[in-house]
Amino acid sequence: MKLIFLGPPGAGKGTQAELTSQRFGVAHISTGDMLRAEMREGTKLGLEAKAYVERGELVPDDVIMGMIAERILKADCAGGYLFDGFPRTIAQAEALSKISDIDIVINLEVPPEVIVRRIGGRRMCAGCGACFHTSTFDGDFCDKCGAALYTRDDDKPETVANRIEVYERKTKPLVEFYQKLGLLRTVDASGSPQSVQERIDALLGDIR
Ligand code: ADP
Ligand code: ZN
Repeated sequence: MKLIFLGPPGAGKGTQAELTSQRFGVAHISTGDMLRAEMREGTKLGLEAKAYVERGELVPDDVIMGMIAERILKADCAGGYLFDGFPRTIAQAEALSKISDIDIVINLEVPPEVIVRRIGGRRMCAGCGACFHTSTFDGDFCDKCGAALYTRDDDKPETVANRIEVYERKTKPLVEFYQKLGLLRTVDASGSPQSVQERIDALLGDIR
C-alpha cells in the first residue's frame, strides 16, 4: 500500500500518518521530519534547508526529490509507504509519478480556526522529534525518550501565516491534480485524533 497524506499545516497529517503507518505496517515518510533531522545534525542538506524552513518557504523541489528517491529504496519501504508532507508542489507530484505508483491520496480537511489552534499548542521533542499538543500533554519532557520539548521556530505566528499562504498557492493545486487521477479521498479532520483515524480506516478498508 502506497499512500499520500495531503492537507494544510496543522491538519494533523503527522499524527494520522504515524497512527496509520503502525496500523498497516508501512513506512512513515515525513519530509518535514527528515529535514529537521538533517538540520539537527548540521549536514550540508540541513544547512541548505534551514533558511527555507525558518521562513516558512518550501525547500527546492530537487533537494526534496533527491531525499525521496533515496528513501523509498530502503528496506522498510518494501511493504509500502506513506508520505506525510510530500508532495507539496505539482512539480514534486509529477516527479513522484515517475518513480512510484500511488494507491490513494487522503486529503485532510480542516477549517482555518482549527489550524491556528492546533499549531499554537504544538510542542516537539528535541531528542526524537515526537510531536505533542498542550491540550493533550502538559509535560515539558518527551514521554518516549525523556528529552526536552520545544516550540518549532516555524510555528511562530508570523511564519505560520506564511506557511498557510504557501500551502494555498503551491500545495492546494494538488487536490485537483489527484482528483483528476481518481485517487483523492477527502476526510473531515476537525475531530479528535481517534475519530479522524476511524474515518481514515474506513477508507483504507477497501484497498488493504
Ligand atoms: P507542516 O505540515 O506542519 O507545515 P512539515 O513538518 O511537514 O510541517 O514541514 C515543515 C517545513 O519543512 C515546511 O514549511 C517546508 O519548509 C519544509 N518542507 C517539508 N516538506 C517539504 C516538501 N515536500 N517540499 C518542500 N519543503 C518541504
Ligand atoms: Zn523524544
